[in-house]
Amino acid sequence: AKQEGRNRFSFFSHDLESNIRERHQLETCLRNAIANDELLVHYQPKFDLATKHIVGAEALVRLVGPDGVFISPTEFIPLAEETGLIIKLGKQVLLKACAEAKHWLDMGQVIPVSVNVAVAQFSDPNLANLIEKALTDYQLPAELLELEITETALMIDAAEMQTKLSQLKSLGIKISIDDFGTGYSSLSYLKKFNVDVMKIDMSFVKDMLNNKHDYEIVKTIISLGKSMSLALIAEGVETEEQRLALLELECTMGQGYLLSRPLSADDFNAFLFANEN
Ligand code: C2E
Ligand code: CA
Ligand code: CA
Repeated sequence: AKQEGRNRFSFFSHDLESNIRERHQLETCLRNAIANDELLVHYQPKFDLATKHIVGAEALVRLVGPDGVFISPTEFIPLAEETGLIIKLGKQVLLKACAEAKHWLDMGQVIPVSVNVAVAQFSDPNLANLIEKALTDYQLPAELLELEITETALMIDAAEMQTKLSQLKSLGIKISIDDFGTGYSSLSYLKKFNVDVMKIDMSFVKDMLNNKHDYEIVKTIISLGKSMSLALIAEGVETEEQRLALLELECTMGQGYLLSRPLSADDFNAFLFANEN
């Protein structure tokens, strides 16, 4: 009867069971990394598309799995959001990024760093305090810190977000809208909220030269951003043709594999000095 019971169980749950086990392993790995402050932060340079000078860097979190291989943030960020671990994760990334940007500054390189902020972090009442303290502790000028927020975060509660954003902006930091064009924006929020930068989502950049639709979307986003005096940066620039096409459309900044992949802190430093910014 025991055997039968087992069979009946595995009959419906084999995949489910292994999914649960994998999820559990990932959660344990993430919890440990956070508890031991072992998350890594990589930095992807942002470039002036015309001069190829580095104009900024995006902090991207990395989790090392049990086998020593990096686990993609697209796998563990959603889990971190579901479990609430995102608050601690976000704090650790923020502190590391501020420390690193201060390090660049001390080496004579004025490179703003941007940090991704998840919806839950953004609604956390403690966010502004946390940022203010980080800027003070690391003696980082506020204008060298930028938060990347998705459109979805801005849509949650317009009134609350407006207060939040002005509170953050009053610290002197910059705000960019990540993955622009992929959310459900009514566009009216762009006017309401005082943001600085629009990041054109890489899904549009990817096919802009072989899909007329995507090209038009990129072009429209650029003219919208320009009309609102926002800075524009294209994500996922992988080819020289894309770089030139974006420049022609007057998008002045970009990041992507063409110019550099995300780099470890050490590699970023080496890259910075090799490029004599
Ligand atoms: P994202 O914010 O849109 O970050 C850009 C992602 O695109 C990064 O993936 C980057 O490595 C990748 N990428 C950069 N250039 C290219 C390119 O030319 N081609 C292609 N195909 N990809 C490119 P990554 O590091 O795997 O991060 C994935 C996502 O995870 C990020 O998307 C962001 O949403 C999230 N994430 C990463 N770090 C953090 C973090 O510290 N906090 C939060 N809340 N989310 C994070
Ligand atoms: Ca981002
Ligand atoms: Ca993005």
